[in-house]
Amino acid sequence: MTTSPLYTIVRNALVLLPGKAQAEPVDLLLEGDTIREIGPRGMSAPADAAIVDAAGKLVHAGLINAHTHGHGALAKAMGDRWTLELLLAAGPWISGNRSLEDKYLSATLNGAEMVLKGTTACYDLFFEVPAPSVEGMSAIAQAYQDVGMRATIAPMVADKTLYEAIPGLYDALPEALRSAVDRFRMQPYAETLKGFEAFVTQTRIDSERLKIALAPTIPLHCSDEFLGACRDCARRFGLGLHSHVSESKIQALSGVKRYGRTLTAHLDKLGLLGPDFTVAHGVWLDPDDMRILAGHGASVAHNPASNMRLGSGLADLRAMLDAGVNVAIGTDGSNSGDNQNMYEATRLASFVSKVRGPDMHQWLTTPEALHAATEGGARALGFQGKIGRIEAGYKADLVFVDLGHINWLPHNRTVNQIVHVEDGTAVRDVMIGGRFVVKDGRLLTIDLAKLARQAEAARERLEAVNAPMKILAEKLQEAVASFCIGLAREPYQVERYGAPLR
Ligand SMILES: [Zn+2]
Repeated sequence: MTTSPLYTIVRNALVLLPGKAQAEPVDLLLEGDTIREIGPRGMSAPADAAIVDAAGKLVHAGLINAHTHGHGALAKAMGDRWTLELLLAAGPWISGNRSLEDKYLSATLNGAEMVLKGTTACYDLFFEVPAPSVEGMSAIAQAYQDVGMRATIAPMVADKTLYEAIPGLYDALPEALRSAVDRFRMQPYAETLKGFEAFVTQTRIDSERLKIALAPTIPLHCSDEFLGACRDCARRFGLGLHSHVSESKIQALSGVKRYGRTLTAHLDKLGLLGPDFTVAHGVWLDPDDMRILAGHGASVAHNPASNMRLGSGLADLRAMLDAGVNVAIGTDGSNSGDNQNMYEATRLASFVSKVRGPDMHQWLTTPEALHAATEGGARALGFQGKIGRIEAGYKADLVFVDLGHINWLPHNRTVNQIVHVEDGTAVRDVMIGGRFVVKDGRLLTIDLAKLARQAEAARERLEAVNAPMKILAEKLQEAVASFCIGLAREPYQVERYGAPLR
């Protein structure tokens, strides 16, 4: 066994420091997994320090993906013209019959793609049927550990199906489909958290690398009693909560129908909101919702690629920032994104703010977009003050970008160029906690050729075993689409004062 040196000195790089628009020629002294000192080029370092020569490279803080789904990687590119509700109706087909090995494999694929594209930490809302298990959660945790990245992992839980969640949908289904979806009914919620609580109490984890959270997946898919149980569980163990809130117009309309108030106001009434709460998407938040979230110190994980791909709409990040909400950026799962490229997500976050209207004062700036993709994400994941900045005392989660790559010819303004030009193809090396996970464009932690064989074998097996579910899903999608297209014609209240753009 070789022991890694205590100190590492990164020399000759251009480094993007917090709050700066332009990278600077400085050296970084790392002690173990932490940035210890930032000094002028040629600064002194302990004699036994390992030397990383980063000449010709830009170093920026690792990107943080605030919303992804580990199970999505095996289902990438399986759909095209799907709204969120059609994606959910396809769930038993595209994510069904997963073995323990499939769960590990899918999260590994997810993590491998992220680190190869410059992401060093993620918030993964993974899914297990019928409920999170100790083995399943251990497999997801192991996958991210094996890839070598930080993660906050949160099992998605629910006690209602899509067909019970949207008022009127079940009754609108043809008789044959109603009995088919009856088979999807969830178990009583009291059972659902047992495996989760067992994992939390039994498993020793390195909290510097891995955090546990809980994801009541969509408020409408959870009874109020279950949401209360999730709140109590999270408070008891000091864990984060993450939920898809006001992602689609259908959800926003259904929330008002079911609760007589917005989804955010309902979660507030039930006591779920707090600084550890992350809203995924928030496309249909109204100004009061944003004030409520800001008042609790909550975060929003913005997923522009998914929001466009599923036709959910365009979230209003400027209004969220003005209200004081912590804003982070995510890719969403590869079953709705369809990739794990945080450069692309950050670029789209900037662009989405710009297509909302011609008043450029309302647009996101590139420093705001990059802040959301780093420090905003760190806070949502529960790693604030540890990652997301290149600063003494922060973890050495660093991305080394090749300044000789076409993306950087010429290198004008660093932050503009990271947000608007870089697409991940110039990433050469990725270091997480002072250890290289990617070097010279090659993943060091996972055998990609073996992963490719496993992914193809799993795809083939799942395609065969889920074939009957595909037939059912296609019938369901037709029925769900016709119901939801009708429902979505109703105006939602924020449309009256024009908050989100459609
Ligand atoms: Zn999601």
